[in-house]
Amino acid sequence: MLIGVPTEIKPNERRVGLTPDSVHALADAGHEVLVQAGAGEGTGFPDAEYVAAGGTLADRDEVWDRPELVVKVKEPVESEFRHFREDLALFAYLHLAAARPLTEALLGAGMRAIAYETVREGRALPLLAPMSEIAGRLAAQAAARYSSVLEGGPGILLGGAPGVAPARVVVLGGGVVGTQAAQLALGLRAEVTVLDASLHRVRELDQLFGTSARVLASNPRTIERELEGADVVIGSVLVPGARAPKLVRREHLARMKPGALLIDVAIDQGGCFETSHPTSYDDPVFELDGVRHFCVTNMPGAVPRTATASLNNATLPYVLRLAEGVDAALAGSEGLAAGVNTAGGRITAPGVAAAYEELP
Ligand code: NAD
Repeated sequence: MLIGVPTEIKPNERRVGLTPDSVHALADAGHEVLVQAGAGEGTGFPDAEYVAAGGTLADRDEVWDRPELVVKVKEPVESEFRHFREDLALFAYLHLAAARPLTEALLGAGMRAIAYETVREGRALPLLAPMSEIAGRLAAQAAARYSSVLEGGPGILLGGAPGVAPARVVVLGGGVVGTQAAQLALGLRAEVTVLDASLHRVRELDQLFGTSARVLASNPRTIERELEGADVVIGSVLVPGARAPKLVRREHLARMKPGALLIDVAIDQGGCFETSHPTSYDDPVFELDGVRHFCVTNMPGAVPRTATASLNNATLPYVLRLAEGVDAALAGSEGLAAGVNTAGGRITAPGVAAAYEELP
């Protein structure tokens, strides 16, 4: 199969859909990969490495317009919609429930869009996990960085100091992101509380953290109480394929510490704080009612080398299957078929359909 790998053009996105090692594996299996010239530069993969791996360099139009399958990292931006067509399959992070114009463009073209974030293996989301692991660790790093006065923060060291209390970090949603964020914050010696709505998960977290973190069942009153003492709140809830529930409302901000920091990792699903709006690394933090918000939609974009390698570890087995034929790959795997979000002009993912009841 002919596969296209465009350069990511979302601001501050330097990852790339396939590494040279992945291109090598595809070439070995008899496939041809068109890589947009310069696509790997942001990650540190020069064009020559793709050519050595058996890829072919091409321009932007060619990598979109010739292949049967395009492999990307992030959702296409508006200038890429013109390449959509019925006989093209797209494999990328899409987050359609929070991206109406993209959803409409995919439906209009009748294109088959397979979203990394809804591919399943049993109950697990194997293609969301790698970026969630990285975003979780980055959330704890952002907590440390933006608590400093150098970044407009209140001047708090997360771990405190001998004789000085550590910062209180509250994690809403103890899944993959929340667990990694909590572990790194604990490593920095912050005082960590993790809340989750699933009692099953609460029990697992209780076992995992033992006495090192407080683990609580999430409900509106508990969240309100935890917000009041928090220096940092990390929002990492997920309802798969759907918009995030708003767990913190504007009236809560007045009761929080001045200069407290909300890190809304779930912003790519619409955000779990009512007052969040998407930001980028160009201007990541804004203040509202004395509370600072960090809402970067593509956090792993800051560490493209680690992120691309980690993503490809997870995606390559699926790309190899799709390359053998998209129809056969989907028919042969219920988990991969769960990734199809749009096909033939219809929304095929329940979470996305729920966000746009009026669309087909
Ligand atoms: P996950 O499914 O592993 O974890 C989500 C957790 O939230 C689950 O344990 C679930 O029980 C819990 N939850 C659901 N509703 C809740 C509620 N009302 N209160 C408390 N807990 C609740 O998901 P994940 O992989 O950790 O992803 C979390 C979020 O981070 C997602 O929205 C994902 O899209 C996002 N994400 C963002 C970035 C970024 O760059 N901003 C990167 C990766 C992931």
